[in-house]
Amino acid sequence: MNAATAPVVPSSPHVMNTYGRLPIAMSHGRGCRVWDVNGKEYLDALAGIAVNTLGHGHSKLVTALQDQVAKLIHCCNYYHVPGQEELARMLVERSGMSNVFFCSSGLEANEAALKLARKYGHDKGIERPEIVVYDKAFHGRSIATLSATGNPKVQEGFGPLVEGFIRVPANDIEAVKQATEGNPNVVAVFFETIQGEGGINPMRAEYLRQLRALCDERGWLMMIDEVQCGMGRTGKWFAHQWAGIVPDVMPLAKGLGSGVPIGAVVAGPKAAHIFQPGNHGTTFGGNPLAMRAGAETIRIMEQEKLLDNATRVGNFLRGRLERALAGKPGVKDVRGQGLMIGIELAHPCGVITQRAADAGLLLSVTADSVIRLVPPLIMTEEEANQVAELLLPIIDTFLAEQA
Ligand SMILES: *Cc1c(COP(=O)(O)O)cnc(C)c1O
Repeated sequence: MNAATAPVVPSSPHVMNTYGRLPIAMSHGRGCRVWDVNGKEYLDALAGIAVNTLGHGHSKLVTALQDQVAKLIHCCNYYHVPGQEELARMLVERSGMSNVFFCSSGLEANEAALKLARKYGHDKGIERPEIVVYDKAFHGRSIATLSATGNPKVQEGFGPLVEGFIRVPANDIEAVKQATEGNPNVVAVFFETIQGEGGINPMRAEYLRQLRALCDERGWLMMIDEVQCGMGRTGKWFAHQWAGIVPDVMPLAKGLGSGVPIGAVVAGPKAAHIFQPGNHGTTFGGNPLAMRAGAETIRIMEQEKLLDNATRVGNFLRGRLERALAGKPGVKDVRGQGLMIGIELAHPCGVITQRAADAGLLLSVTADSVIRLVPPLIMTEEEANQVAELLLPIIDTFLAEQA
């Protein structure tokens, strides 16, 4: 092989070493396909971790963003930003909630939610407010959000943690009652409808309704982190809508801007007016480029009926995987909703990420033993079938090695 055709093996000696990266560097994408700098093609079942809602290079999004970049990228919140009002109205209409704060990432949205909950408490005269959080939760990597996260690996080395959290197991309403019994300082419960990083673990609909009733009875805010499971991924705009409930606070990010950094906290009437001028803010939050990305993503999702697509293609893919994997020793579960699917194996299976990439498939393994599929919401049945065709032999080989 001569120098001109030798594959590029990427290295980043000047970038801080915070990720266990695969030895691959991406160049460009189109639809559900991505190509690396050596020209190798991949089918994308990861979408940049549930971010690229519209896939790659969507022509309508590209045109809109080009237009916005040329007009105005950023102007700061000293002024009104018309795009904020437009995207806020779209989120309010689709969530049944009332007001929105914009930021630029998931942890920022969650940080704002935690501040809302604390101020909600202080406004009621509670000086040391406490928030109920969950085992296996993931809320981000700032000091407050990693303290709320239920994964010791995320917290290790960063103590002292932020106080004021009470941790409970998922799907057990009695556990919440016991953990908070006689405690007047509780102000909120905070959780993901379907835990993403924790291993695609859904909260049951019945549990969500019980929790909603408990929050109403006790005057707590129900705060649902829909950063990963929201924005149409499960086939409804927001995953909690399958249970027919409405939260008081809902952080969003990941898929909201189809890849442009954006975060949002949507608040219902109980939480919409807690922040007053001076209480919270961010320089980049709500900039015209991010707002255009969010509004355009929602418009295109509706034009292309991507909620229905997420349900239809998700059911197809989950069904296909369930049938192929049913009863196999070493396969614990296939679960999820819409295009958020987890395959839990009985063994740590991080190696599958590299093997899938070698075979031309992008996915991730989370919580050590759960293969996570969170593809773009534009994925077709044909592409979903290819995901299964590429993935199933890799699982078979892996399981045979464990036997
Ligand atoms: C990814 C994620 C976050 C953190 O988002 P960042 O943009 O990485 O800060 C928070 N909550 C959930 C549920 C997530 O999946």
